[in-house]
Amino acid sequence: MNKFIFVSGGVCSSLGKGVAASSLGALLEGRGLNVRMVKCDPYINVDAGTMSPYQHGEVYVTDDGAETDLDLGNYARFTSGALSRANSITTGQVYESVIRKEREGRYLGRCVQVIPHITDEIKSRILAVAKEDTDTDVVIVEIGGTVGDIESIPFLEAARQLIHESGKINALSVHLTLIPDVAGGELKTKPTQHSVKAMQEQGIQPDVLICRAPIMLDEPTRRKIALFTNVESDAVFSSYDVDTTIYEIPLIFFKQKLDQVVLKKMGVESRHADLDSWSSMMERFAARKGTVRIGIVGKYMDLHDAYKSVYEALFHAGLEGGVAVELVKIDSSRLEEAEAEESLLGIGAPEGRIDGILVPGGFGQRGINGMVKASTWARTNKIPYFGICLGMQIMVIDWGRHVLGWEDADSTEFNHETRHPVISLLEEQVDVTNYGGTMRLGKSESVAEPGTRLFAAYQVRNIFERHRHRYEFSNTYRKEMTESGLRIGALTPDRSLVECVEWPDHPWGLGVQFHPEFKSKPTAASPLFRDFIAAVRDRKQLQG
Ligand code: GLN
Repeated sequence: MNKFIFVSGGVCSSLGKGVAASSLGALLEGRGLNVRMVKCDPYINVDAGTMSPYQHGEVYVTDDGAETDLDLGNYARFTSGALSRANSITTGQVYESVIRKEREGRYLGRCVQVIPHITDEIKSRILAVAKEDTDTDVVIVEIGGTVGDIESIPFLEAARQLIHESGKINALSVHLTLIPDVAGGELKTKPTQHSVKAMQEQGIQPDVLICRAPIMLDEPTRRKIALFTNVESDAVFSSYDVDTTIYEIPLIFFKQKLDQVVLKKMGVESRHADLDSWSSMMERFAARKGTVRIGIVGKYMDLHDAYKSVYEALFHAGLEGGVAVELVKIDSSRLEEAEAEESLLGIGAPEGRIDGILVPGGFGQRGINGMVKASTWARTNKIPYFGICLGMQIMVIDWGRHVLGWEDADSTEFNHETRHPVISLLEEQVDVTNYGGTMRLGKSESVAEPGTRLFAAYQVRNIFERHRHRYEFSNTYRKEMTESGLRIGALTPDRSLVECVEWPDHPWGLGVQFHPEFKSKPTAASPLFRDFIAAVRDRKQLQG
């Protein structure tokens, strides 16, 4: 029998529900359980693919090519269960399939309603994840939004029904709330009391409370919360602010015995907890020496979540390379202004110097010339450079313009008229006008050329990483590019598409068409991020 844990949130958003759900997942995995994670998103978009990274943060891509909410990235970094299209449930998908069934006449003339039809669809999707693998023990379902939101009601109602149908021992409600410090040191429990009341109005009595607070809650506060909410006081946990890293949170919950309480409530006999990988990761964190400054040159710089997986992967690489990674966010359109270049890249100012450049993925024309400038600067000054997807295409444009001397070299995404479309659509894509579903999405194979930095990083020739792009390195220019010295690091197995380019005679300049950031973990950094940060660190140490 599968167990279910529903993680909901109250009071306000951004309390770290995704991290709390993931940390609980990590703890249960540490106890030897097979855990699957599911995100329910109340928005009406069918998936996150069409949402602006400005508004909604990064689009996280799974192996099977689903464009999902960035919370799935948290799940992937904290837990090891399979993640696919099935693990992300949105209101848009639910309604889309209910309406499709209605049109097909599959409701046999009945009036189609939120309850039971929408809630049944939600339940069947959650149950499908539980049944996917026979060895799944627990499914943790994170319900997006805040209790009290109109949009979340069908998801909470589906949770209520599943809890009722499975029985308390098989389904728990974990509720996250905020304990604010209003009067300088005085923690207020009232919003939590109201939030639990709102859950009770939905017919759900939370079994476990995780309270986000500036500090660890003391015993009297926990007892007070327990008294008002019908939750046992040993099931009231503190998620206090940490100044280390979010990856310490599983250990913080472990010290408070969150996993023991959850196992006991679910009637699972307690087993040995193996959290070695998490504690040794924290030891590496504490042992880091020195800092490297990485300039991220992109267009969505104001919202940290827009490049979430990239930033996390840099942090993971720092853990493995024994250095702290400072992120210097550089808006590429500002780099287009001539005067800004020196100050933004810290040229000439040792304390403000950028030690490495990373150009992440992106769409649209704005800021492209600033990115090309960053590539030229890194290439000619022998500063380590890592290009991801668009960042690789930028390397090719830079090479076309400045090594081959084709001033108008460009991607046809940005310039249709160019005489040197070094990045372009594949022939068969040229006529496609519909934007949905025309991208290369999800896991595919690249074959690394021996002797390249790419091969050195992965130590195997067959590499499986995820894609999300429409444009490709144009094969028309493959010969001129390579003859002038640009090295091709990898091709697709049929050798038709370029997957990686490298700068030879350079400390570390590499671009990949895929997105290695999605598979990086705090306990095992992505090989390319690891080698990039190692190259940056070594070069910095050499220079003193
Ligand atoms: N805009 C580019 C393309 O579609 C790059 C996409 C990306 O960086 N994810 O090919």
